[in-house]
Amino acid sequence: MLISNVHIFDGEKQLEGLYDVVTDGELIKSVEPRTEERTSGCGDVISGNKNWLMPGLIDLHVHLTWNGKTDPATDIMHSSPEENLMETVGNTLKYLSNGVTSVRDLGSPNDDSLHVSKAIARGQIRGPRIFGSGMSLIMTGGHDPFNGMPVDGPWEALKGVRKQVAKGASVIKISATGGVYGRAEGEGVDDTELRQEELDMIIDEAHRRGIPVTAHALGEKGIRSCLKAGIDCIEHGHYIQRDMAELMAKQGTALVPTFFIYSHLADSDNIPEYARKKSQAVIEAHHRSLGYAKKAGVLIGAGSDAGSPNAPHPCMFEEIKALHDGGLTNEEALRAATGNAARILRRSGKLGAVKPGAYADLIMTSENPCENLDVLLDLRMVIANGEIVKR
Ligand SMILES: [Zn+2]
Repeated sequence: MLISNVHIFDGEKQLEGLYDVVTDGELIKSVEPRTEERTSGCGDVISGNKNWLMPGLIDLHVHLTWNGKTDPATDIMHSSPEENLMETVGNTLKYLSNGVTSVRDLGSPNDDSLHVSKAIARGQIRGPRIFGSGMSLIMTGGHDPFNGMPVDGPWEALKGVRKQVAKGASVIKISATGGVYGRAEGEGVDDTELRQEELDMIIDEAHRRGIPVTAHALGEKGIRSCLKAGIDCIEHGHYIQRDMAELMAKQGTALVPTFFIYSHLADSDNIPEYARKKSQAVIEAHHRSLGYAKKAGVLIGAGSDAGSPNAPHPCMFEEIKALHDGGLTNEEALRAATGNAARILRRSGKLGAVKPGAYADLIMTSENPCENLDVLLDLRMVIANGEIVKR
């Protein structure tokens, strides 16, 4: 397939001039400066008409099993495993047409996201690439028990990692602190959950298996423990201080701030009251921590937390806008959802890029997305794995 005459944002930067992009099967074969009528030898020819081509978006933090209504956790607990699996499938099907070609699912009851990921990889259903953790590892009574596997003590933690790896997890998700949503009582954002020796074991074992670990972590103490254990990525990260951001940049720990959801929860009056109040209390710190991270040069990725209360799938556009409102430039926000996201997935060069050898996961917009993010709401074309899924 030839896509001719397009401007390109390649996941890192805007390229000068116009280009012709050729795909072969699921991969991008060539990206070359536009020349006169390069049509010979290509199957489908798509006239780009000086539109913009960029990598498909990558949402690094979704919960495909959560329904995005007012209280998804309660709905999950009141549904059968079969109902939850069908909910997961239904939500997954909403991604590609909105330009999101990969997602990282961080916490799914019964490992539903891993089952759906396999169904997509086998071609049974068409959907985004899913990089899933399946169930998260939590302490008994820890954050998000409805999709958490309780592990207490280093040896249970070790077994938890091995179980998730055996089921096909491509990332290990842990709850290192309490959160704002999930349970009305019994957890605060400053509460540390897993102990240092449990964190050390989880991260050491996952790394031994070549798999990254990411932590739900809001409070300062919990984040510090994760950094000490050598965590790969922090989700949310509200109370990251300046020295912590510098340490993250130095040791290569990424941040997925999930910036949209907290202000959204703080403004929602139809969600559980405890969650709204707790969200309001952490907004200011969240802005500060994103500022520290940007200044220190931390690798920042875009994750929406889609599926959370009042956040129906997908919410990638909302997250990109929120990152921009939080102080990132448009280009930095787009990089967070493409090139940076691929790096966090450890798929740099294969995903989140418009370059030879990368998967042909591409979206086309009528204007330069780096100048106007709103064009992401009106996509001219979506290509996933080399196939046109929206035109
Ligand atoms: Zn989440």
